[in-house]
Amino acid sequence: MPAHILVVEDEPAIQALIAANLERAGHVVLRALDAETGLRLVNEALPDLILLDWMLPGMSGIDLARRLRANERTRSVPIIMLTARSEEQDKVRGLETGADDYVTKPFSPRELQARINAVLRRRAPQMTEDPVEVGGLRIDPASHRVSAGGQPVNLGPTEFRLLHFLMTHRERVHSRPQLLDQVWGDHVFVEERTVDVHIRRLRSALEATGHDALIQTVRGSGYRFSAMPAA
Ligand code: CA
Repeated sequence: MPAHILVVEDEPAIQALIAANLERAGHVVLRALDAETGLRLVNEALPDLILLDWMLPGMSGIDLARRLRANERTRSVPIIMLTARSEEQDKVRGLETGADDYVTKPFSPRELQARINAVLRRRAPQMTEDPVEVGGLRIDPASHRVSAGGQPVNLGPTEFRLLHFLMTHRERVHSRPQLLDQVWGDHVFVEERTVDVHIRRLRSALEATGHDALIQTVRGSGYRFSAMPAA
């Protein structure tokens, strides 16, 4: 599944090289030459992952990572720090700041892609291609198929992403803004009731087999995917 990856790197040549490699791997790349621009882009739409250069003009990569970790909305966006430094001490500092991984320049495109895949797998299970099954409801991102009780279910692209996100983040309440961020990638320009519209469509597609009951409304909070009966 393509990921939206924000690259914050002040050296245009390195930024272009990274972006070209990521695009070749099928990802959607957003670019920023400084931390302030990176922060603005994150505020507009949450990326699936951030590649963050350590040394930047103005606000440093470390400071940006700290700010993102301190904010409820951006806390869980995976971050891979990029740096020219290779000292063990700096790695420790980078990881303490909340970075998920650390890549030392120069790195090969293969190494970077491997690190990205590992972090996405760990931090954003909805970005991986692994099939998920709960109570007879099965979603397979690789083949883009959904089945309920062995019967195929037809879903639109948004319902598919929504179901995949919910199934990979079970037993948790997700607010409408959180779902917009995670599924639409945007909490600013899409209305919250859009979420309700797609939840309704998703439930109606799952109604025939009773799997619509897995998607629970939590009054005043949002939605939860749960194999347990709603309280
Ligand atoms: Ca730099």
